[in-house]
Amino acid sequence: MLRPAFEAETTPRAAPGLYVSFPFCRQKCTYCNFASGVFSQDLRRRYVTALAAEAAASDTLDRADTLYLGGGTPSLLTGEELDEILGGRRREWAEATVEAAPGDVTEEAARLWRERGIDRVSLGVQSFDRRVAAAAGRKHSAEQVEQEISILRRAGVERISVDLIAGLAHQKEADWEESLDWIERLEVEHASVYMLDADDDSRLGAEIRSEGGRYGARDVPSDDQTADFYERAIERLAAMGLEHYEISNFARPGCESAHNLKYWTFAPYVGVGSDAHSFDGAERWNNARMASEYVARWERGELAAAERETLDAVRRRQDRLLTGLRLRAGAPLEPGDLDGREEALEQLLQKGWVERPEPQRLRLTSSGVLFANEVFLELLFE
Ligand code: SF4
Repeated sequence: MLRPAFEAETTPRAAPGLYVSFPFCRQKCTYCNFASGVFSQDLRRRYVTALAAEAAASDTLDRADTLYLGGGTPSLLTGEELDEILGGRRREWAEATVEAAPGDVTEEAARLWRERGIDRVSLGVQSFDRRVAAAAGRKHSAEQVEQEISILRRAGVERISVDLIAGLAHQKEADWEESLDWIERLEVEHASVYMLDADDDSRLGAEIRSEGGRYGARDVPSDDQTADFYERAIERLAAMGLEHYEISNFARPGCESAHNLKYWTFAPYVGVGSDAHSFDGAERWNNARMASEYVARWERGELAAAERETLDAVRRRQDRLLTGLRLRAGAPLEPGDLDGREEALEQLLQKGWVERPEPQRLRLTSSGVLFANEVFLELLFE
């Protein structure tokens, strides 16, 4: 199995990762504030055309060594749509992932993914408890997820990741433990655990702010409970052999996400589609956020990139450390990285939130991961 490099170097020759954004979903989850949703078939057809044209316009489809189909719900893509986007390629990737919603994994879907070189599936389970999942807008049961993982295994998918969210409405200690039990039972290679901070842009967030009761808004765990769930996940997943390699990510050794590691090791990546971001080592750019705007720009003959930024030395340092500190291995330090931050660093060391495992490396401690945002603010921003 591939062992991803934790210290990727961004050089003009480094193979980029390719991210393909497909923001179409069957339903809008209550907590979701992504630029995704239930859009018309007409927009979907035009979107796939624009996406295929954008992907074909550069050499990234051939140069990239990792592929990540994200969304949205890219497990809704048909074989024909996938072929159109990938230009009919059936190549091997160092890693190729599709994000899938439980309910979309059929024998047919697994076969068409495998035929196109997709060897990793990230399942957006969020909770194995039916009531918690339903309040979030999901209809699956734990048994259905189990069956779908069996389908993937039979089809030869060697790497399966499961997403969980801590802090969903109605979530209690018992069902959180049950979700972790399922991760253990299913023996997945990778898990992602996110702490929900319901954004005002989501239906759940808006309901909480207006003190309404829809979507279980009155039964959302407190921040402290959510943090307890996350800490419990760290403990349980470690006992299962899933190493905590990034703030939200856990993997068996050698099963870290090679594509996502590119984001955290400052390696290059190209994103195509709406709300997709790209980085080539010197510049960052991103496409129009909404699918309709992305398609309209393309149809008007405009560039897909709506915003572009050349990183100056300050921004480069911030980005490099911000991404590197997300990794449990920490960020390698370059001369001058912490100039002017000596006092803040000393305080963070005393609080036990960061540590220096070696002189030229800084990392969050196991307790510091809960205060990552405070650490980033103290060390990286004015
Ligand atoms: S959480 Fe995922 S599946 Fe749900 S609406 Fe958002 S992008 Fe779609």
